[in-house]
Amino acid sequence: MSFPESNLTYKILKAAAEGNYAVPAFNVYHTDALLGAIRAAEELNAPCMIELFPWSLHFHGGEFIKFAVEACHNAKVPIAVHLDHCLKEEDIAIALELPFDSIMVDAGSSDSEQNIAFVQSVVDKAKLKGITIEAEMGRINGSEDGLPLVDMEELYTDPEYAAEFMKRTGAHFLAPSFGNVHGPYPEGGPLKYWQLDRVAKINELCPSEVPLVLHGTNPIIQSLIDQLINSGVRKVNMNKNLYTHYRTFLAENAATLEMTKLQEGAVEAFKKGAMEGLRITHCDGKYAK
Ligand SMILES: [Zn+2]
Repeated sequence: MSFPESNLTYKILKAAAEGNYAVPAFNVYHTDALLGAIRAAEELNAPCMIELFPWSLHFHGGEFIKFAVEACHNAKVPIAVHLDHCLKEEDIAIALELPFDSIMVDAGSSDSEQNIAFVQSVVDKAKLKGITIEAEMGRINGSEDGLPLVDMEELYTDPEYAAEFMKRTGAHFLAPSFGNVHGPYPEGGPLKYWQLDRVAKINELCPSEVPLVLHGTNPIIQSLIDQLINSGVRKVNMNKNLYTHYRTFLAENAATLEMTKLQEGAVEAFKKGAMEGLRITHCDGKYAK
């Protein structure tokens, strides 16, 4: 099979497009979350993704990334491993030497020609490694664990320009900016700020094989997710909400349980949050063996 059809992220998102559902991409920070996500996906027969931040490249190092990839690729369901928000060129260089399935590049420059040239060069290099690329267009504001605070004027993705950008860069997946922000929303939340028509228009104008990616899902609202799935959103990034059960479990038990029981319980608690995420995006039961 030729690239990008051979790429696991590409395959998972293509199957999601064909079945009109999405998959969660779980931000994991440690083995508790990694194991919890894999077990949730296996139990629900759900394809999905896990994602790491560039923070992991430095804090954990490459051996941990290889372990995560090995664990995901040996799961009973398809689970791709993605590097989320890779901002720096030196991190991209490190990531391309690791077995990631896909990488998100943040095109930081405000100059559009420079952005196109930059993303295109990353796409070309990644292709040689069999890695697909998610590109951000516009600017998704805010902050989340593992990411620096981005304090720039919000730039919405222009549908016509997005189509041109995707064609010219050859990037595989698009993360649009349509009023979604990282971290807590101002009063009114996603219901007030998300411009769903903008996403529908982006989906209409972009090449049909380009899946859209949703960032900024805190809080996550089922009816909005359902509408976005109908507008071509196939990957839904999940971070903070996922850890609610996990944090509660740790807060109640960290001081008393023995370490083996503490970790088993923590994995189970994360799994509970991950299962909710799999159901919200409707990928549960979608993996046909
Ligand atoms: Zn994001």
